[in-house]
Amino acid sequence: MGDAMATGVRADVQDLQMMIGGKWQSGARKATLPVYDPSTEEIIAHVPDAGAEDVDRAVSAARACFETWSQTTAQERGRVLFRIAETVRREMPRLAEIESRNSGKPIVEAEFDINDVATCFEYYGGLATKVMGHVNPVPDNALSLSLKEPVGVAGQIIPWNYPLLMAAWKLAPALAAGCTCVLKPAEQTPLTVLELAKHFDQAGLPAGAVNIVTGYGETAGASLVAHPDVDKIAFTGSAAVGKIILKAAAENIKRVTLELGGKSPNIFFADADFEASIDGALFGVFINQGEVCSAGSRILVERKIYSKFVEAMAAKAKTIKLGPPLERETKMGPLVSKEQYDRVLAYQEIGKKEAKVAAGGGKSKAFHKGFFVEPTVFYDVDNSARIAREEIFGPVATVIPFEDEKDALRIANDTPYGLAAAVWSRDIFRAMRMVKALRAGIVWVNHMQPTYVEAPWGGYKQSGFGRELGPWGIDEYLEIKQVHFNLNEQPIGWY
Ligand code: ADP
Ligand code: MG
Repeated sequence: MGDAMATGVRADVQDLQMMIGGKWQSGARKATLPVYDPSTEEIIAHVPDAGAEDVDRAVSAARACFETWSQTTAQERGRVLFRIAETVRREMPRLAEIESRNSGKPIVEAEFDINDVATCFEYYGGLATKVMGHVNPVPDNALSLSLKEPVGVAGQIIPWNYPLLMAAWKLAPALAAGCTCVLKPAEQTPLTVLELAKHFDQAGLPAGAVNIVTGYGETAGASLVAHPDVDKIAFTGSAAVGKIILKAAAENIKRVTLELGGKSPNIFFADADFEASIDGALFGVFINQGEVCSAGSRILVERKIYSKFVEAMAAKAKTIKLGPPLERETKMGPLVSKEQYDRVLAYQEIGKKEAKVAAGGGKSKAFHKGFFVEPTVFYDVDNSARIAREEIFGPVATVIPFEDEKDALRIANDTPYGLAAAVWSRDIFRAMRMVKALRAGIVWVNHMQPTYVEAPWGGYKQSGFGRELGPWGIDEYLEIKQVHFNLNEQPIGWY
């Protein structure tokens, strides 16, 4: 209890409200949903289970605020974002602890995430004043301009794997652009963004600029996507829900950006550094319990080193330290929810029928409660197997052998997804050929997973469209207005 009190996280169950129009509010229906600690399976909070009425109030608040927020100077918007970043840095231990407890991720990883949250607000705070228009070189005696203007009210729906970081990726560029936001966190992990929202007012964010609506996807999320006064939906989540959102957004032609995960290949040639390769394979697929949209879950290994690779990878996978997320030595925590746990366990059973097991293969026997799953390595996997085609979103690696470069490429691109890929080789010519031929929005060479706010993030194929982060991220929240000044004083003289 002492430690929990010291950092302010109450050990008892908290009854939380959501943020609409700058005020803490319960849902119109007064319904709530439980929030869990996945390492103890205990309820740690209740949050409003918002319905259509609540979403409607949030959208109205965002619309009303858009009038003013879009008219503030870019400098002022930048300063607000810098103050939010400062708050995040100041509150880092508390935010990291809440994130770790609610999502199950190891505390050390949560600290990395929260640092990235601050960096994201800093980046877009700076970028707010660098949004440039354009002079178009039209041939007439005219001045033709392109102006960039905020899209309007953004509806933002995010997943549970990087709760506050995904909120930052959505809120920071939108606010910098002059948009106002209605953000729906995942029902499993609403706590950190609600915690951050406590500081919005002090950071100078006007009431209604950011509204946080908690609730389920099928209700609160769907209401947001269907709302006629929302101009844009930014979504990160499953491909199945992405398809639903895209269809629903057609009703009033909302702008849509989608980041939908993948089944990303992590490709190892025999000439790559072997030790680095094993670490890269493990890091690529097991970081954050494998609950990563860009997880390198298909590990393609050149036949020459295949047996040795499987053996070394399995041996090291077995040493990964599972444990309570808040313990600093923990390298892998529980999965986020019972639903996800059951889903991953089911895929492990499917995998046992489709391939051979080199490590793991079930729930962790070391824990009496909590959604702990063994880091699992399947090998001799055929790329047509379900465990090689479907996104599992858990610590499950599928190792697939390949013969040569052509074979590697064929297997790598044989997927409906195209978020990420990685290539490991010391042959720069081969690496470059692979980079060019891989159909993915992000390609790492001799690494997998580093992600920077300065560089674009998003997918090819069924991994979605639109790009987050960097200048690309803010462009998704901007419309382009063409302006034409006629500089001839004479009439046109056509009729
Ligand atoms: P997962 O299967 O891992 O839960 P989802 O794609 O279902 O991933 O969830 C990502 C986000 O999308 C969550 O915030 C969730 O509440 C939301 N969501 C789920 N279904 C819908 C829907 N039909 N409309 C809008 N949002 C949804
Ligand atoms: Mg879901």
